[in-house]
Amino acid sequence: MGKHILILEGDGIGPEIVREARKVLDVINTKFDLGLTFENDHMGGCAIDAYGVPLADSTLEKARKADAILLGAVGGPKWDKLDRSIRPEKGLLKIRSQLGLYANLRPALLYPQLVDASSLKPEVVSGLDILIVRELAGGIYFGEPRGIRVLENGEREGYNTYKYSESEIIRIGRTAFEMARKRNGKVCSVDKANVLEATMLWREVMDTLHKEYPDVELSHMYVDNAAMQLVRAPKQFDVLVTGNMFGDILSDAAAMLTGSIGMLPSASLDKEGRGMYEPCHGSAPDIAGQGIANPLATILSVSMMLRYSLGYPQVADAIEVAVGKVLDQGYRTADIYTEGKTKVSTSQMGDAVVAALNA
Ligand code: NAD
Repeated sequence: MGKHILILEGDGIGPEIVREARKVLDVINTKFDLGLTFENDHMGGCAIDAYGVPLADSTLEKARKADAILLGAVGGPKWDKLDRSIRPEKGLLKIRSQLGLYANLRPALLYPQLVDASSLKPEVVSGLDILIVRELAGGIYFGEPRGIRVLENGEREGYNTYKYSESEIIRIGRTAFEMARKRNGKVCSVDKANVLEATMLWREVMDTLHKEYPDVELSHMYVDNAAMQLVRAPKQFDVLVTGNMFGDILSDAAAMLTGSIGMLPSASLDKEGRGMYEPCHGSAPDIAGQGIANPLATILSVSMMLRYSLGYPQVADAIEVAVGKVLDQGYRTADIYTEGKTKVSTSQMGDAVVAALNA
């Protein structure tokens, strides 16, 4: 039987970009006779509107049964004033933790055609190909206790807990070492071991685990230095592995090296390789509904889905080749537009990828 995909368009530009990714899914489904089946539901702000909660139990159940999930993005100003417990982002954190999606893969790959769209000099970024492996189900975003409390003197205090267990570090470390084996054989583990005990343990466990991967080179870097090195000499990195919060921040910085966050896909995998696929960016409420969002990050997320969860690497390659062709043809959404190129809308970009796949 064909694989089953749950589609969660989400909020803001989510429906616009997922519509284009769906066009690509429909084309490859027919062209390669994959027999994929699809189902749509809500998560995030749209789920609050429809069900009163950012992630309904019935949606979570569908997610558990699906072979893979395609997500647009969640959140937006309409829901920002709601109580913290039912904000759109809670849906995202819940689905990640409930499905055990602990390994977030975020490739930062610069297409040679976009070298001028990067904020850095061409010689610093051309040929850039980094994989950021971010721990996604632990760390300070999930650590308890957490909250805002009133102190004895009447002042309020916000607090969170940063913790990682050995098993959490080992499983994400394995993902990083195994990915490096398929790439250029280098892992850089990013921490703040000079200050935070949780990351002292992180470093120690990575060193121990490294003994099982002697063919991979392991280095360590403090997060502040890593942020600096990413914009100074990003090509020194192959696989960069880090905790949830540091990975969140560093991967957005890496995104800009590639020209636009609108180009960056991501995968969030469980221990069996089932996963949720989404662009790295958010719901971009500032441009929602204008038909100008870049759908390529979402289309490339479909490609990662075919590669990592559905077992169709050749189809994934075909999508990546089609995206390259479209860029060669000079098509650019506003975020990656440079003079002399052809500015296109969200749907025109999707159509161009479909045309390249059918060519
Ligand atoms: P954002 O990523 O939505 O937008 C940042 C900037 O990048 C904006 O100027 C936006 O217009 C631009 N941008 C993003 N995606 C683009 C695309 N595909 N094409 C062209 N330009 C694009 O981040 P933000 O503004 O900080 O957050 C907006 C909302 O998204 C918030 O509610 C936030 O909580 C949510 N968010 C959701 C996710 C997610 O669903 N995984 C991730 C990050 C932020």
